[in-house]
Amino acid sequence: TTWRVTASPVPLSGGTGVLLTFEDVTAVEEAGQIRRDFVANVSHELRTPLTALLGFVETLRGPARDDAAARDRFLGIMEREAGRMARLVEDLLSLSRVEENERMRPTDPVRLSDLVSDAVETMRLMADEAELAIELHLPERGVTVPGDEGQLRQVFSNLLENAIKYGRGGGRIELRLTEPAFEPRLRVQGVRLSVRDHGEGIASHHIARLTERFYRVDAHRSRQVGGTGLGLAIVKHIVNRHRGRLRVESAPGKGSEFTVILPSD
Ligand code: ADP
Repeated sequence: TTWRVTASPVPLSGGTGVLLTFEDVTAVEEAGQIRRDFVANVSHELRTPLTALLGFVETLRGPARDDAAARDRFLGIMEREAGRMARLVEDLLSLSRVEENERMRPTDPVRLSDLVSDAVETMRLMADEAELAIELHLPERGVTVPGDEGQLRQVFSNLLENAIKYGRGGGRIELRLTEPAFEPRLRVQGVRLSVRDHGEGIASHHIARLTERFYRVDAHRSRQVGGTGLGLAIVKHIVNRHRGRLRVESAPGKGSEFTVILPSD
């Protein structure tokens, strides 16, 4: 606990006394620390691709000037690094938009079943490239929940994208959407949307921290597959805004299951 102690003089009959006030500022200190860490992380994440870009510009101006093959290769790397920065900025903007109105629960009717099928179509190519089949288990009747369509789409694409990125070698990904039923964890009617992969899995001590900004189990690997380290932080905030829950189950070497539980009325 951090205390802020303030001393102020108080006139007393026999002279001057001192009044000490103790204020618990632990939360304030922690918020400050979190903000400083965040700024340091963002700066670091931006600096890495920027340094690479500047380095290659230099090389293209100098030694590689007349080497067409090298130029092509370097331009390819520069494009990738610029893409990484663009993704990071997009994710930062999403995160701040969601945080800004986290208290307001969105209530537009969102057809989850359609959203899931759409996202699968969008991601099909990426899954094919990773040699992963996508198994879709949807209830017969369409499922609708109150929410923000764009944000729920983002939750689902982030989870699916992770399953593809980290589920390599697992052969398949299973997606499941349940019909509305009483949801004990929410104490209201709710639906479950789960994404299961059979990839590398996550050791249990990492699980509680996965939704922290920039937390990665293996930073090198995350960068290699084009991750920003913000995907699950965004998921968590969107799910909170919808008054839902995120559940993660995983076993190293066996795979992971991410389940979003959303109130359906
Ligand atoms: P990233 O952009 O790095 O993928 P996320 O916030 O989406 O960031 O995920 C945080 C970290 O959680 C990842 O770097 C990865 O280590 C781990 N992770 C997320 N999804 C999975 C998964 N399906 N299987 C294994 N690890 C995962």
